[in-house]
Amino acid sequence: MEALNYSLYHLHSIAPRHSKSLSIAARGLSGQTYKGAVFWDTEMFMLDFFLFTEPEVAKTLLKYRIDTLKGAKTKARDYGFDGAFYAWESQEGGYDACSDYNVTDVFTGRPMRTFFKDKQIHISAAVVYGIMRYIQFTGNKDLLREGGAETIIECAKFYYSLLIKRVKSEKYELYDVIGPDEYHERVNNNAYTNRMAKFTFDAAIKLLEEETENENAESESEKKELLESFRDAVLHLYIPQPDEKTGIIEQFDGYGQLEEISVAEVKGRLLHEKEYWGGAYGVASHTKVIKQADVVTMMNLFSSEYDMETLYKNWAYYEPRTEHGSSLSACMYSMVACKCNMPDQAYPFFLKSAKADLGDGGKQWAGLIYIGGTHPAASGGAYMTAVEGFAGLRIENGELTAEPRLPKGWNHLKFKINYLGELYQVTVTKDEAKVEKL
Ligand code: BGC
Repeated sequence: MEALNYSLYHLHSIAPRHSKSLSIAARGLSGQTYKGAVFWDTEMFMLDFFLFTEPEVAKTLLKYRIDTLKGAKTKARDYGFDGAFYAWESQEGGYDACSDYNVTDVFTGRPMRTFFKDKQIHISAAVVYGIMRYIQFTGNKDLLREGGAETIIECAKFYYSLLIKRVKSEKYELYDVIGPDEYHERVNNNAYTNRMAKFTFDAAIKLLEEETENENAESESEKKELLESFRDAVLHLYIPQPDEKTGIIEQFDGYGQLEEISVAEVKGRLLHEKEYWGGAYGVASHTKVIKQADVVTMMNLFSSEYDMETLYKNWAYYEPRTEHGSSLSACMYSMVACKCNMPDQAYPFFLKSAKADLGDGGKQWAGLIYIGGTHPAASGGAYMTAVEGFAGLRIENGELTAEPRLPKGWNHLKFKINYLGELYQVTVTKDEAKVEKL
């Protein structure tokens, strides 16, 4: 509890309450490599805390993305794509702080070419996810009129322009990307990325279908054309599915053929303690060892699309292959463990997130570059695990519901949640969960 409170303290301290359009840097108010830049950490890991407790702050975070759409459109254009490609490390104006050479090689002292900025295309979908989640929890569509709708459509245009179809195939694919697991660069059909692109198309379709008046209204013919394109994309986009025999979803094309080796063995191959594990010749690059939750992150977001057995199989398959080299990793494993009704297995991962800034063990180095700073995404992940994992909070048929999944040693959990402009009290005991409007 103390670690969770410490996490909440951090989130409260960094909330940009003094602004109407500002986000939170990945390493909080300190940190060096990350240059005070904003990553997907905000929408995918921190947003829920603000959405549930202070929706105004959540709006401020999302307004930052809307107000930096111009930078995202410029980035997409510079790469020859349509729409909006958000900065991997976003700074003022939405321009990318991520360099082409983001890691220093420990052996040569030379900068190493990395592709985080060019290939982590899932960033635009994170922005869309954040906006849609805001609408879902607040019921307030002002954000859409204030540029949110345009942002979503631009992100969908971006993914549409990236779709690849082989002459002899019916399906659309996404090639040459980096998923959440940064150790495997330039892969094809990363399950998380493809599923998030589909999420983006679905969101854009919903908006275009519902759109009555929109200040950025496309002309009727453009709207019709976009709708046709996005519907076609949803129909044909390849989403990697659980293998019929094993139930495992392949993280990306060819992942299954990579070297089977333990995290400890990969670590044993390091020639230098600060050596980068990914990139062209990193120790993990040619193995199944991944930096952070990837398929499991997708499964947490879309858990209702899988049965519990499939959730469990993927959790159990990927966890031992995960280095947890990013502080964003553990909370995804704790949340999926809760969804598999395994709160006790979730607990150590929850603690890892909650304690990210309380003890040692967090990564402070990327190659020879010192990162430093605090870990607000891990703090947000600890909060999400408590609320959405242990208390099982979710929306079902438009109603807020909860389900007790408390770990050993926790007898009750009580918190307040904002939902559709009302405040709710959630009280969870070992075998009962109550959601009451205040
Ligand atoms: C992780 C990214 C994360 C970034 C900032 C990296 O180490 O791989 O997923 O967005 O750190 O926290």
